[in-house]
Amino acid sequence: MNTPSINAQRLLTELTHLAQIGAGPDGAIHRVAGSRADLAARDWLSKTMQVAGLTGHRDEIGNVFGRVPGSTGPWVLLGSHADTVPAAGHLDGAYGVVAAIEVLRTLVETGHPAADHIEIVAFWDEEGVAPDSNGGLGGSTFLADSPHIDDIAAYLEVHVEQGPRMEAAGLDLAAVTGIVGVERYEIVMHGQENHGGASPFDMRADAGRAATRAAAALRPICQSIDPVGLIGNVGSCSFTPGAANVVPGEATLQIEIRGISEAVLDQTRTALREAYERIAEEENCTCTIRKASAKPVAEFNPEIVRMADEVCRASSDRTDRMASYAGHDASVMSTRVATGMIFVPSTSGISHNALEHTPDHQLVLGTQALLDTAVATAERLTTGQDSLSAAPPVLAAAA
Ligand SMILES: [Zn+2]
Repeated sequence: MNTPSINAQRLLTELTHLAQIGAGPDGAIHRVAGSRADLAARDWLSKTMQVAGLTGHRDEIGNVFGRVPGSTGPWVLLGSHADTVPAAGHLDGAYGVVAAIEVLRTLVETGHPAADHIEIVAFWDEEGVAPDSNGGLGGSTFLADSPHIDDIAAYLEVHVEQGPRMEAAGLDLAAVTGIVGVERYEIVMHGQENHGGASPFDMRADAGRAATRAAAALRPICQSIDPVGLIGNVGSCSFTPGAANVVPGEATLQIEIRGISEAVLDQTRTALREAYERIAEEENCTCTIRKASAKPVAEFNPEIVRMADEVCRASSDRTDRMASYAGHDASVMSTRVATGMIFVPSTSGISHNALEHTPDHQLVLGTQALLDTAVATAERLTTGQDSLSAAPPVLAAAA
C-alpha cells in the first residue's frame, strides 16, 4: 500500500506527554471535562497542532480542531475525546486524539495530497462525569448540531477496545462495524408484605423471590437469543421494606441490555417481558416493567467498514470485524456522516482505570491503520470528482 509510514516514536512520546497532564500521585489521570487539567490538555493539543504546522480553532463548546492552513472542506474528520473519567488510564480517548495528530502530521510532512482533505478533532466531554454534563458525548453532539457538520464528509476514530474480546481472540486490530444499542429497564415485582416466619412458602406473594428469579433469568435469556451479539446486566436489586423477618412486598431490579441490532433488542425485550410476567404469576405477584432509557444501535458505513477491514488485513493477519460494546463519539457522528472505527486491544480488558494498557506495537499498528483508512476514504471521496463537494452515493446514503 502506497501510503507514508507514521513516526512510531513520536506517537508514543506525544502519548506520554498528554498522559502527564492531570496525572495524580496514584498514577491515574484526572482530566474530567472542564477541569483545569482538561483545559490544560486542550491548550497542549492546540500547541502541538501548531508545531505540526496545522491551523487550529476551538468551537463554542470546547472541541479543538486542526487542519492544514488554507485547506477547504468537506473534510474527513479524525479524532476522539480528550477528557477522561476520574482516575482514568492514559489511552481512552487520548490515543485517538494523538493518533489523529500523528496521521495528519505525517501526511503534511510527506506532501501527501490527502492532507488537504483531513481535519482532526479532540472532542469535549465524551465521558459525561462532570457535574454539568448531560450524559456525555457533549462535544460530538454539539458538532452534529452545528453548521460545521456540513463541512464533514466522513468521521474515523481509533480507540482502545476497553474489553477483553480482542486479546482473548489474539487480535492486533479490528474494523468496528457499529456500536451496540443500550436499553435500561426498571423491573418492579409487587407482592404482599407479611410475617417472614408465619407465612408458609406456598402461601406467600414473595416479591423478593420473584425479583431474584427474574435477575437470574436474564443471562440464559440473552444467551439463547444471541450468545455473541447480546449482553445483559442486573446492576441493582432492592427489597422493600428490607428486613430479615419480613416477606418483601416489593422488589426492584435495574437492568441493562446491549445488542448489536435493533432486531436482537426487540426479541430480547419481548422474551424478558414474557419471562418476567410468567415468574411473577408463579410467585403470586404482579410485575411492572418501565423503560428508563434507550440509545439506538449505531451502524457504521459499510464502505468505510470494508476499507478499514482491508487496511487491517493488509497490516496484520490477526484482525477481524467486531461491534463495540462501549459508547463512543462515533455513535453520534454516525447519525450525520459516514463513520467508521478501528480498535486495538486492551490488555486484560481493563479500561477506566490506571492499569489501562495496550502494547506499543499495537498502538503503532492502529495509528498506521487510521492513516491508511483516512487516505482511502479521502481518495474515495475525490475519485472521479473535481472536489469533495459531493460524496459518492454509497457514502452519502449512510448519512
Ligand atoms: Zn473513549
